[in-house]
Amino acid sequence: MLRLENVSVNYGSFRALDNVNIHAKDGELVVLLGANGAGKSSIFLTVSGLNKAASGSIKFGNKELVGMQPSQIVHDGVVHCPEGRKLFPGMSVLKNLMLGAYVHRKDKPGVQKTLEEVFELFPILHEKREANAGSLSGGQQQMVAIGRALMGRPKALLLDEPSLGLAPLVVKQVFDVIQKINRSGTTVLLAEQNAFAALKIASRAYVIENGHIVMEGSQDELLNNEQVRKAYIGA
Ligand code: ATP
Repeated sequence: MLRLENVSVNYGSFRALDNVNIHAKDGELVVLLGANGAGKSSIFLTVSGLNKAASGSIKFGNKELVGMQPSQIVHDGVVHCPEGRKLFPGMSVLKNLMLGAYVHRKDKPGVQKTLEEVFELFPILHEKREANAGSLSGGQQQMVAIGRALMGRPKALLLDEPSLGLAPLVVKQVFDVIQKINRSGTTVLLAEQNAFAALKIASRAYVIENGHIVMEGSQDELLNNEQVRKAYIGA
């Protein structure tokens, strides 16, 4: 279980997250919905130790993540796939993927096995493994970003806007892959603007506005909620 309790984050005098409470049970796929600037990325950055929480607790199983080094958080199984992919465009696909395995670098056979699993999930990345990441299409680059996160062997995967800027057909492929990853047992926390597609594969979701969680519910509850439909689905 990943559980945030009363997590607040400040950027200077600006309160970006105010007493946020969210959780994802083991194996769940939980969606975070919210407009630009609502605080979704701030949640992920704080869970992965890149932002400092002003107060609150973030537990993964029995471990408290607040105050831990980001590399230790990855080592313990919580891996962040950031918004905008953050690849190294001048490095090969393979090298980008291997960066995700840095915390496991001493376990060479394990890393090799995970790499094979990533190539099985994304055969195109095997084909393009020697190409510079920057030469790939947007969808393929997103697959590199997800593949790199998988190289960290997540038990819980934080996916920040994976469908951003992608063509509809590619968006579908990305969502299919996310569902597959989740069905293989990985807990997924997914921040998405593409609310309909995200809710379709989610078990539960939260709506965040101005740093506050304003709604929480099951897939059905949110898909049928008029406010959510108006604000995020456009129907
Ligand atoms: P987006 O999808 O646009 O990234 P988001 O929901 O992920 O939106 P955050 O990036 O978490 O939102 O931003 C939450 C708020 O905090 C916004 O008002 C943003 O401008 C502000 N913010 C984010 N990072 C910083 C920072 N480093 N310094 C100051 N303010 C920040």
